[in-house]
Amino acid sequence: MPIDGAGGSIHQCRGFFSTNCPLAVEKTVNLYYNQRNILSGWPGRDRRNGERRMELLEERIRRDGHVKPGNVLKVDSFLNHQMDVQLFHEIGREFRRRFQDQQVTKILTIEASGIGIAVVASQHFGNVPVVFAKKTQSKNLDGELYHAKVTSFTRGTVFDIQVSKKFLGPQDHVLIIDDFLARGQALMGLLDIVRQSGATLVGCGIVIEKGFQEGGRKLREQGVRLESLAIIDSMTDTEIHFRKQDN
Ligand code: 5GP
Repeated sequence: MPIDGAGGSIHQCRGFFSTNCPLAVEKTVNLYYNQRNILSGWPGRDRRNGERRMELLEERIRRDGHVKPGNVLKVDSFLNHQMDVQLFHEIGREFRRRFQDQQVTKILTIEASGIGIAVVASQHFGNVPVVFAKKTQSKNLDGELYHAKVTSFTRGTVFDIQVSKKFLGPQDHVLIIDDFLARGQALMGLLDIVRQSGATLVGCGIVIEKGFQEGGRKLREQGVRLESLAIIDSMTDTEIHFRKQDN
């Protein structure tokens, strides 16, 4: 497999997102990526790398995702139960590329699935602190809190999310990160908390947006800068269609 920045073909790296990928292949592919990233000093190449990274994410969703009744996509083998850390690094790198023009001082997410993604992404934003909104009351949550109401897409229940006022304030530039965007409830709750804190919202980075649900459209209409790495326009148990993106 050629690993120089000009000659490598991503189709030779299909094993990259495989959980069963042999170590040797994985190592070669990592080398390939590292070399590409070193060589990606100009926007054209960086952008092409971004497109390839996201093609691989789409392939992984098609291969390992399962569509469940009620418009739920199960991706627990790599995103939100078992976590593919190498994939998370590529996701983090891509968020960085998309928000490269922005100053970020904190990443905000919501427990539980957003935490792993946000922590790895932070490493691509200079290790800025990650704050996660808590969904349950806890004795560990002391002092003053920001609160917002969120309806859970997967459970259908309403809960109160909370963030300590110690960890978010007007001096912060906040990037919100989450695994899924469906009806937009979780993001709206997080946006409400950013607004209460007086921080500057940089934007929202989502791994999988279900574009056939209304959350993405509503947030974009509100002028929120929303970067979704994979947008699903339709899905059935046999087919998933992704939106073409121009990033
Ligand atoms: P929303 O608030 O945008 O309606 O839903 C977003 C939240 O619900 C995410 O934090 C995510 O945890 C969960 N979610 C929404 N849709 C899906 C889905 O299709 N699959 C999974 N695994 N989680 C989802």
